[in-house]
Amino acid sequence: MHQRSAEERRAELVELYREAAVCARCPLSKTRTRVVFGSGNADADLMFVGEAPGMHEDQQGLPFVGRAGQLLNTLLEEIGLSRDDVFIANVLQSRPPGNRDPEPDEIDACKPFLHRKIELIEPKVLCTLGNFSTKLLTRSQRGITGVHGRPQVHELGGRLLRVYPLFHPAAALRSTKTLEELRADFARLPALLEEPPPVPIGAVAPVTAAVAAERAEPAPPTLFD
Ligand code: URA
Repeated sequence: MHQRSAEERRAELVELYREAAVCARCPLSKTRTRVVFGSGNADADLMFVGEAPGMHEDQQGLPFVGRAGQLLNTLLEEIGLSRDDVFIANVLQSRPPGNRDPEPDEIDACKPFLHRKIELIEPKVLCTLGNFSTKLLTRSQRGITGVHGRPQVHELGGRLLRVYPLFHPAAALRSTKTLEELRADFARLPALLEEPPPVPIGAVAPVTAAVAAERAEPAPPTLFD
């Protein structure tokens, strides 16, 4: 299969941005000021996905530029990274009025954009920030309190990658305990980025005919850690 270069993927990301900038797939297109596509390094190993733009993001057209964003910057600095090293996006590209929760039809309308971003950026690790992003990208109803700080392998954007659920920085601004847990989870990110990419089980240990014959059930296609 043809591997696209970083330049090719970046050019496609710019095309996608142009499409998103005029998107009218959901009613939020009528109330938003600007589309918040996401920003950062188009070839990042580390990607963050938050919930939806707030008032400041809606005005500036950039993700995480308010107080939650400042905390995210600080947490990145503490592990030796800056926003230029990572890519930051949201489940929704348009602000829900009054910062209400995203509606299911809005998530459905925006989902193809998010999946395409993941496909083009090809991150090694994807941090979901808060419940909406975590439930959407882990395809599970398990909430952030139960799953934060534990990497899961998922197929997203056509590749296996590690999804690392984190508390939303806005929640950490409201609770010192949550901030401590978020900081502790962040501290494990550098080591997680050093892990070799997850591989399908067949690529590691080909199943011998004898083992295959013993198996009553077909093996699952991928190994999840
Ligand atoms: N909260 C989010 O989830 N995303 C932003 O971009 C800003 C605040």
